[in-house]
Amino acid sequence: MVTMTPMADIPDSVRARFEKVRARVRDAAIRSRRQPEEITIVAISKTHPSVALIEALESGVTDLGENRVQEAEAKITEVGRHKARWHLVGHLQENKARKAIRLFDLIHSIDSVSLAQRLDRICVEDGRDELGVLIQINLAGEESKTGIGKEQLPTLVQSINDCERLRLRGLMTMPPFFEDAEQARPYFRQLRRLRDELQLAGHFGDGPGELSMGMTHDFEVAVEEGATMLRVGTAIFGDRSRI
Ligand SMILES: *Cc1c(COP(=O)(O)O)cnc(C)c1O
Repeated sequence: MVTMTPMADIPDSVRARFEKVRARVRDAAIRSRRQPEEITIVAISKTHPSVALIEALESGVTDLGENRVQEAEAKITEVGRHKARWHLVGHLQENKARKAIRLFDLIHSIDSVSLAQRLDRICVEDGRDELGVLIQINLAGEESKTGIGKEQLPTLVQSINDCERLRLRGLMTMPPFFEDAEQARPYFRQLRRLRDELQLAGHFGDGPGELSMGMTHDFEVAVEEGATMLRVGTAIFGDRSRI
């Protein structure tokens, strides 16, 4: 007798999940009269093995994000530094700054003047011409999360502008978790307003001023509020707790 595996038992592949995310991003963009092309999906691969990252790249993912330098180093070596644009989305300890500069194209988590200055100094020492950075803002002032309070923004912007090699590309936030993603909307809106003010003052040069916001459970709301970089892990790679 031939036993067949019911379809429901076959876990979705990374490819199938990524295609679903991409379709949902496209729909949310069109709904809010935006161009889907102006939105980058950064696939957050923390805890997942290199094979999953390679599968993602073969499925059309161009940008991969990790939250820990140590874990990222091993995986970036296996996958290939130039096979993807690599994003650091987690807190960066100053003693990992040199490694981070070698591994990542964009750092989303600048949260202090001293970190910015240290990164800049190492870029000069290591001959890295420029390093794109985002400032992480903790809009709800949650103790469990890193990021600056918004009252510290002008000082940090100024110090990044004073750096020789750092390029301020935008802002990042991670709002509190709400069952109802709608409740994240005011935080996304607030980040966009801060971005708009900085943009008007010319702080992003010719660039658009990136808004890194929106995760698995709220990325559609983030698209509606102007996100240009979505950080999506679970919806692409599956549940992290099962690893
Ligand atoms: C893990 C992580 C994400 C992705 O979270 P999901 O809910 O799995 O999409 C996004 N941003 C940061 C900073 C993360 O650490």
